[in-house]
Amino acid sequence: EVRSITDLPGVGPATANKLIEAGYATLEAIAVATPQELSAAAGIPITTAQRIIKAAREALDIRFKTALEVKKERMQTRKITTGSRNLDDLLGGGIETKTITEFFGEFGSGKTQICHQVAVNVQLPVEKGGLSTPDKVAKAVYIDTEGTFRWERIEAMSKRWGLDPDEVMSNILYIRAINSDHQMAIVDELFNIVPKENIKLVIVDSVTGHFRAEYPGRENLAARQQKLNRHLHQLSRLAEIYDVAVIITNQVMAKPDVFYGDPTQAVGGHVLYHAPGVRVQLRKSRGNKRIARIVDAPHLPEGEAVFMITDYGIAD
Ligand code: ADP
Ligand code: MG
Repeated sequence: EVRSITDLPGVGPATANKLIEAGYATLEAIAVATPQELSAAAGIPITTAQRIIKAAREALDIRFKTALEVKKERMQTRKITTGSRNLDDLLGGGIETKTITEFFGEFGSGKTQICHQVAVNVQLPVEKGGLSTPDKVAKAVYIDTEGTFRWERIEAMSKRWGLDPDEVMSNILYIRAINSDHQMAIVDELFNIVPKENIKLVIVDSVTGHFRAEYPGRENLAARQQKLNRHLHQLSRLAEIYDVAVIITNQVMAKPDVFYGDPTQAVGGHVLYHAPGVRVQLRKSRGNKRIARIVDAPHLPEGEAVFMITDYGIAD
């Protein structure tokens, strides 16, 4: 099975190194290259380059498919419980693999708590709403851009299901992203790590923080959006190729109409304009109650769900 560039026919260690140095570190990069540029970059004959590109495309399943095949692939997507039946129902069963799910809302609306809970829940066996099989634990990657990850919450949320908290924590790969470039480099790296480690969930909390800080104001908006779109596209490919669920969060103002400096917020808050996926708006309600609403999803019914943030996690 071809999972990384070293598995491609005719790519030995020396060629692999040349390809990586020239920026062709992933199957995606090779799949979209031309034989000429690949040949020049790695010093290999054009015919070899053609063979490598073809193999990369086959490995990534880039080809014409019938609509029926698309249907069958889509039906294979699996769902992770959020811990709240109401929220699961709103999402059509839970957080879906092969898809980006965006949670957006004001500070304290529960985005980070949901991320923690799903990082635990993915590890549950399939019949309990996770993606672990008897022989393989489903792991999570947690990319933290704001420093709000708390292992104590993982512990509490694990105990809720009777899971061993240390075991659950050992199956969450945590990394702090220090800026937007680093954030994107981490996702590049995930194309190598995800298939090897049976990772079934990738969290980016928050996806927008660094981008907003580094590209402030209207004058930087176009550059910011362009880079952010590249990042979202990266995540969307990762989700699709490796049958992984991706959760991103995005903090927005409670009243976008008064936050006129940032048009991306005025439009409704979410960042998944051009990327496929599910957008969920979170609002604070009384006490520990929160309201979730699906925005702009053609395949899911309109509606709202009420859930709670408790000591032991996301619940009804
Ligand atoms: P966001 O990421 O959207 O800014 P969070 O997910 O961090 O918001 O949610 C913060 C809220 O979660 C807090 O306001 C609090 O109500 C709730 N919360 C956090 N920790 C606990 C806990 N241990 N027990 C109960 N509720 C908690
Ligand atoms: Mg947060």
